[in-house]
Amino acid sequence: MKKTIDDINVRGKRILVRLDLNVPLDDAGRITDDRRIQAALPTVKRLLADGGRLVLMSHLGRPDEEPEQKHKYTLAPVAKRLSELLGKAVPLLPDCVGPDVMARVARLHDGEVVLLENLRFHEAETIKDKKAVPNPKLREQKDAFARELTSLADVYVNDAFGTCHRDNASMLTVPKLMAGKPRVVGYLVQRELKFLGETVSNPKRPFVCMLGGAKVSDKIGVIRSLLAKCDTILIGGAMAYTFLAADGMGVGKSMVEPELYDTARQLRTEAGPRLRLPVDSVVASEIKAVGPSAVCTDSIPADKMGLDIGPLTIKTYAEVVRTAKTVVWNGPMGVFEVAPFDQGTIAMAQAMADATVRGAITIVGGGDSAAAMDKAGLADRITHISTGGGAALEFLEGKPFAAIDVLDEA
Ligand code: AMP
Repeated sequence: MKKTIDDINVRGKRILVRLDLNVPLDDAGRITDDRRIQAALPTVKRLLADGGRLVLMSHLGRPDEEPEQKHKYTLAPVAKRLSELLGKAVPLLPDCVGPDVMARVARLHDGEVVLLENLRFHEAETIKDKKAVPNPKLREQKDAFARELTSLADVYVNDAFGTCHRDNASMLTVPKLMAGKPRVVGYLVQRELKFLGETVSNPKRPFVCMLGGAKVSDKIGVIRSLLAKCDTILIGGAMAYTFLAADGMGVGKSMVEPELYDTARQLRTEAGPRLRLPVDSVVASEIKAVGPSAVCTDSIPADKMGLDIGPLTIKTYAEVVRTAKTVVWNGPMGVFEVAPFDQGTIAMAQAMADATVRGAITIVGGGDSAAAMDKAGLADRITHISTGGGAALEFLEGKPFAAIDVLDEA
């Protein structure tokens, strides 16, 4: 268990809070979805109410890949929205390091907050730690950047779950350099660790996992890790066709990864009857909202592709989900962006909501499945929807998260 902001005294302290305020913006620079800002509020409000002096930091987009378009990635719209939501001024500083920033932070009073400009305006933020860094100067640049950030604060808070799988300067080097000072998690990370970590490691049974999405290759690690823990694993999405094709079934033009047929067969042997595959599919010759589609219970014709789980699969999968005590879901059951291929995903979202009502702990592992929950209008009927897409997957895979490991134990 990690120390949280509830375990430390923050009054009068300068607190460096790493958030994930990487919100989507439209071409005019307006925020199209402020959920990441909303998700940061409980921690920010609590620290302000307790008299902390807050220095918030985040990345936004990938300005490092578009240096000539850097202005597009300013955190100005985020500062404005955050200030509206908090009912309090949140000045955006012109940079995240440097003498002007230090001077401004030194003038903060208890219960005041500033937001540093986009961390990724400095390439040092994202220099890779793990890979052999070919240029030691870059490594030194990363350390120097992190040292400047640490000089802004007495306490470090990590509440950026979506970035916790990255070894960025603000995520890992900063807390490493702050050894001896309090380094804790915020409420959002605490919640993610509770559900993706503790609940999944120690589930109430039956524990059912539902995995879908495009590629088996993206999810082999998750399948293996969850297979070791769960009672049943339900496979949907395009992923299912790699398993079915590996078994010798005709899957027409469905998306498959032939190089993974051996792995798929091996996983099925290891899992036995615990791994379930669709028994029917909704098929069509194109991914089009209008146009003929049909249900196929056997081999898929050569000119068609499987785009969603079929009604029989929906019925059996839904029953398994509804009677579970713990459910983890990652990846849509079909091409949920295009009706009518969204029906399997919507039905599973409904089954998750039903399971929650029956007392199950239901967890959605971020990304497209979280979007599907929204589309189905059922997001508020799920125990936990992770804010991390890639991070949630890696966490479920059981990969070590250095950015969390480095923080203080409770
Ligand atoms: P992932 O990011 O791996 O969770 O994959 C999500 C994507 O998988 C979504 O964009 C879906 O449209 C896509 N997908 C799910 N099922 C299928 C399918 N049967 N054929 C093609 N794409 C699919």
